[in-house]
Amino acid sequence: KFITLEGIDGAGKSTQLDTIQHWLEVRGVVVRRTREPGGTALAEALRPLLLNTPMSPLSEALLVFAGRHDHVTQVIEPALARGEWVLSDRFVDASFAYQGGGRGLSQDILKTLETWVCADFQPDLTLWFDLDPDIAAQRLARARQEGDRFEREERAFFERVRAGYEARSHLPRVYRIDAAVEPRTLAEQVDGVLRR
Ligand code: C5P
Repeated sequence: KFITLEGIDGAGKSTQLDTIQHWLEVRGVVVRRTREPGGTALAEALRPLLLNTPMSPLSEALLVFAGRHDHVTQVIEPALARGEWVLSDRFVDASFAYQGGGRGLSQDILKTLETWVCADFQPDLTLWFDLDPDIAAQRLARARQEGDRFEREERAFFERVRAGYEARSHLPRVYRIDAAVEPRTLAEQVDGVLRR
């Protein structure tokens, strides 16, 4: 199975990755954990460019999808073929949220890139950690001082990113997790989704 975690910066998905990996491993699943932007030598080399260099929304999308193509073919598909479960910190929904919602790139362009790069390859399960941008910003308060160019974005940007995720949440594979609640309640929600 291919599981992806999504959410705006500061929603807490990185912490949840550890929990989910552990949840799977105690049940005997071999987990291949990975991330985007990144996951391969090429995509990890693109990551600092994406995070630090101002660029047009289309350039941003092309670089993200270039990395994603490498990631899918070199890491995700081979791991799935070996029978491993892949757990990725972000995947294609992040492009609809960030390059689409956040940067305003058209759905047409994103869907075309998705078709070229992913064809009909999709996650089996996506956990969307949904959080109000104000709360996320508070959680990021310290990181924001020296954060990357995304973390320095304003609230309005993250409202649009959140709306971008919301617009994907009708997909049957996407489960919304309320990330504003206390850790225990959050863990119960995650557990509930993973048991499906
Ligand atoms: O999840 P993580 O914090 O590692 O993501 C790194 C940065 O890349 C984030 O600030 C995120 O907003 C940005 N990003 C993006 N477009 C994507 C994936 C991530 O702008 N498709």
